[in-house]
Amino acid sequence: MSVQVLDALPAAGARAAATCRLCGARLEHTFVDLGMSPLCESFLPPGRLDAMEPYFPLRVLVCGSCFLVQLGEYVSPENIFREYAYFSSYSTSWVAHAKAYCEMIVARLGLGPDSLVVELASNDGYLLQHFLPLGVPVLGIEPAANVAKVAIDSGIATRVEFFGVALAEALLDEGRQADLIIGNNVLAQVPDLNDFVAGMARLLAPAGVITLEFPHLERLMADNQFDTIYHEHFSYFSLIAIEHLAACHGLKLIDVEELSTHGGSLRVYLAHAGAPRPMSASVSALLARERRQGFGDIATYARFAQQVTRTKRRLLSFLIAAKDAGKVICGYGAPGKGNTLLNYCGIGTDFLEFTVDRNPYKHGRFTPGMHIPIHPVGAIDEFKPDYVLILPWNLKDEIIQQMGHVGAWGGKFIVPIPEMTVIDPKEPRS
Ligand SMILES: [Zn+2]
Repeated sequence: MSVQVLDALPAAGARAAATCRLCGARLEHTFVDLGMSPLCESFLPPGRLDAMEPYFPLRVLVCGSCFLVQLGEYVSPENIFREYAYFSSYSTSWVAHAKAYCEMIVARLGLGPDSLVVELASNDGYLLQHFLPLGVPVLGIEPAANVAKVAIDSGIATRVEFFGVALAEALLDEGRQADLIIGNNVLAQVPDLNDFVAGMARLLAPAGVITLEFPHLERLMADNQFDTIYHEHFSYFSLIAIEHLAACHGLKLIDVEELSTHGGSLRVYLAHAGAPRPMSASVSALLARERRQGFGDIATYARFAQQVTRTKRRLLSFLIAAKDAGKVICGYGAPGKGNTLLNYCGIGTDFLEFTVDRNPYKHGRFTPGMHIPIHPVGAIDEFKPDYVLILPWNLKDEIIQQMGHVGAWGGKFIVPIPEMTVIDPKEPRS
């Protein structure tokens, strides 16, 4: 393509990042720039390997006014979420987490046969299924038809739609109001944040509660989780930003819990501002902690980028030395975050022979951008690699336990985040 042709192409995303998606202020501060990257869930079938692949900027900005860390809407959600490769049920520890939540929340809110639980982005029904034996009616909202079908086929009522004010109004017209609205790992993926939260406020019964889980920006920064940045994640939240968001829509924070999921998440509880639900001490304690750490000061955010480039250099130095020594390296997992890491660091089949995944949807496909083949997990036993690079590092304990037998042939694990670490499964770990 000539220079003239490139100049003539529309600069689609260039303006999308100009104003804050929460407060509308002009965005002037870069948080981190991970370069150009393909969509991290666009796994390629063999027939597409020679086709042109779209790349979009992974430049993250931070609002100097409300401190929302955010990525421009470079890609339409219609293109991302209508066929989604992530089936929640393929992660054992995630399913256990979901069950524990359901039992806790039913008891805490006293939910019963007359209640309604609505989950936004209900995926394959991995969470809502646990309410059914407890006798609590549920409704899932899931825009990706392929995963929604799995839920519907197993008896979980699911609407194949995007959520916002329009759908909330339609449900109210049908006489439905939610006593509990659940949004787990969806808030970050909503480009029109204000429409989404306004929709929740509309659908929520007067005494209802919303619980949202999302990765905590504090953990992302402290633990260097830059690979959790990808085009599908439009926003990255501190509790300070959530408090602002809730207040904009007549909601209030009533509780917060810190969870270990996804590298460190928050579960926040919201209610209508006028509802007789007091704010727990944990909310003010966490807000105070974030202010002490500087999350209300733009200078704090500027330091993150240096940490990220250093991690890239260290990981590449190790991989280059290992390949020079003739070692065989493969990956474990093909999560979205893995593709940010692989593309940002430029790790292709020159370093990783292949990766493996438990999700059969990905078998025989290739990772976007770096084109690393994805095999079933058994390929590791067949090829007996010297090193296994764990891409879903948040599940590393589960994976090392399941795959500990690689130690039988001297195999070791590489964990890339927060800092590159080599783990020998034959050595006792603390
Ligand atoms: Zn803002």
